[in-house]
Formats: sequence, C-alpha cells, structure tokens
Amino acid sequence: MPPYLIKAMSKAIKIVLKPGKEDALRRFHPWVFSGAIHKVEGQPQDGDFVEVFSSANQYMGCGLFQHSSIAVRLMAFAPHRPQELDLEFWQHKLQKAFGMRQSIGLTQSDHTNVYRLVHGEGDLLPGLIIDHYNGNLVVQAHAIGIHKYRETIAQALEQIYGSELKSIYYKSNDTLPAEFASAQPTEGFLRGNNPSAVVLEYGNKFEIDFVSGQKTGFFIDQRENRHLLARYAAGKTVLNTFCYSGGFSVYALQAGARSVESLDSSKKALELAEKNVALNFADTHNHSVIQADAVPFIRDNRKVYDLIILDPPAFAKHNKVRHNALQAYKRLNAEAIRQISPGGILFTFSCSQVVSMALFKATVIAAAIQAGREASILHQLTQPADHPVNAFHPEGEYLKGLVLYIS
Ligand code: SAH
Repeated sequence: MPPYLIKAMSKAIKIVLKPGKEDALRRFHPWVFSGAIHKVEGQPQDGDFVEVFSSANQYMGCGLFQHSSIAVRLMAFAPHRPQELDLEFWQHKLQKAFGMRQSIGLTQSDHTNVYRLVHGEGDLLPGLIIDHYNGNLVVQAHAIGIHKYRETIAQALEQIYGSELKSIYYKSNDTLPAEFASAQPTEGFLRGNNPSAVVLEYGNKFEIDFVSGQKTGFFIDQRENRHLLARYAAGKTVLNTFCYSGGFSVYALQAGARSVESLDSSKKALELAEKNVALNFADTHNHSVIQADAVPFIRDNRKVYDLIILDPPAFAKHNKVRHNALQAYKRLNAEAIRQISPGGILFTFSCSQVVSMALFKATVIAAAIQAGREASILHQLTQPADHPVNAFHPEGEYLKGLVLYIS
C-alpha cells in the first residue's frame, strides 16, 4: 500500500467542516473559508499544518491554516495524506511545476530565461509565487504558512536547479498580512546575494531589480502580449502608458517603431525603462520618457499616435468597487481611442481579477462608441502558460487584453 493511503494516527490539528462544505474540496477547490468551519480540534496558530475533515468525519485533505477569511489553503487532497510538509513534499511539488515549464519550452530556451516557476493556486501551491530570472529565483509568500517553509522551499529549489542556481531572494513584505510582516524580517537573500540580473525575453535584454523593483521585479505575465506587439509596431509612433520597466517599449523599438514614448507615474520605473532601452540599443534618440498620471495626460494631450498601450494596475481589487473600476476603464480607453490615428492600434489590458473578459470587452466597446470611432477586435489576450489557471479555481484567471484596430 502506498504510504499516503496508510491511515496514520495523525498529530495534525483537525478542522471539521459544516455539512455540505466538503463539496468544494471534492472539486479540488484549494481554499476553506472561515465560514465553512464547524469546529477546530486544537488551537492552530497562523501557518500551522492542519487536516480537514467533512462533517461525516471523512479526511478531505491537508493544508496551511491562517486566522483570515481564507482559513486553510489546501496543499494536498485525499487520498494523499502527507504527515508533514517536509523536503520530499516540496521537492515533489516544485519538480512538477518545473516539469510543466520544461514541457512548454521555457527552461531550455536560447531566447528566454525569465519565467514564472510557481503560480500559486494554478500550480496547486496556494499562497506561493516563484519567479525565475536567469538562474536567480524570487520567492514570494502570500500566506503565513508558506513563510514558515521558506528554508525548506529553498533547499528543494537548490536540488532542482543545481549549479545553475545563482541566488534565491525572499520578497514577502507587501504580500503577507501587514501586522505579521512588520513584526519579523520578511525579505532577504536565502541563497547568494545578486541584487539584480540581466535576463533575455525573446532575445530582448532586461535588467531586473528584484530587491527594490515592483512585485518580484518584472511583469512576466505580459511576455506573449509584448511579443505580439512586435508584429504591429514597425514604422509606428507608439505611446506606452503604465510602462513600468519599459517591456512593451523595448519590443516596439526592436520591431522598428518610428518613435516610442514611455509613460509612468513612477520616476524609478522610468529610470528602469531608460536603462532597458539603452541595454538593447546603441542609439536611443527615438525613445523618450514622460513622468505623469496617465489618466489626465491622455485626456489633455492632443497628440495622435499610431499605437497606444494601456496596461494600468488593477483598478478594482474586489467586487464592491467593480462598478467604479469599469467607469475608469471606459474613460481611459475612450480618451486613448480618440488619440489613435485612423488605421491605428490599441493594446488595452485589465489585470483586475473581478473584471471578467466579457465585462472588459463590453467596457472597451462602450469606450469606442463614446469616442465615436469604428473598432474591430483583432486579438483577445490573456496570461501566459507559465501563469496557469487551476481548472478548479477559475478565480485564478486575472489578465485580460484586447487588441483593437481603430478605423
Ligand atoms: N506594462 C508594464 C507593467 C505595468 S504595471 C510591463 O509590461 O512591464 C503598472 C504600472 O503603472 C506601474 O509601473 C505603476 O508605477 C504605473 N502606474 C500606476 N498608476 C499610474 C498612473 N495613475 N499613471 C501612470 N502610471 C501609473
């Protein structure tokens, strides 16, 4: 009998669900909400390993506990019953995630050495993000339980990457509960000490500052959309708004854009964008940066462009503010569409998880109507395969994009 089927006398704290609340777990949904819990046998601390049972006392799975609305993040489902999350457990899970990236051609590529190794729920590792930057890994915990295992996770990563591993940076200050993060160190090197790395993405070079950059240092999720942009950028005048480190700008210049203006409200982001343009091109005369709030800038700027990119941060973080967010997307898109020359292109995105593709599309179409311009949808875009959506957790789908041809 395989070890996980042995009915062990578990020492884990037991969480018993209310009747019917086990259904979601049978469908492999990886969260237990606090409202679904009938009783807790023991006194779990934040981050403790717990076992979850149905109201009929059937073992459903195990995971990491936290005193919050998501009370348990499931790390294994029945019949799997690990007695603890030891090195072997992490090796197995992380090797699986690595194997997937290998099978989609990201681990051995000549032109790309930046990818997401672990995408939380999408890799059945809720609360954990790991990004790979040319041998440097950035580990990010979104749950206290993951924080507790950071050293074991680092050991497992060392075994997977071997001599190719240059550093592991742990970066969780902004993603763990604020009270927890302020009481202990939640950032720092777990291995090595490279503060930045130069990576290749479809042959374009980017310097990634994972210590002081936004998120883990780079918006890896836009890789395939940046690649698509290159098809449309030759000879165009381009405005790249919300540009961060200049991802779309570098691709547009590489493709032969006539001029590219990179806009962001953050001075630090624009410094990174300029650095990345200089890293790729000896002559940077056709690139310029604008430090501004994109919304009034696009409204008041009377200049016309052949191609505009709108990639704002999430306007809506939860359902309550969704309506306002949709209005904001509509205004921004309408203003941008007005500034596009006839026969021009708009690349427009939303990374708000609560705004579905259907809603986003309806909003952008309404914006085109408001701008009084004919528009055709050329592409409907999403997040790339290294940011997978767990089939049992559709909430994991967050990035939406449209490419419009504006007549
Ligand atoms: N397109 C980028 C990622 C964009 S992230 C890429 O491919 O890498 C969103 C960016 O919007 C951040 O750099 C942030 O500094 C910027 N930002 C946030 N609010 C803004 C505003 N009101 N006006 C302009 N930029 C803003």
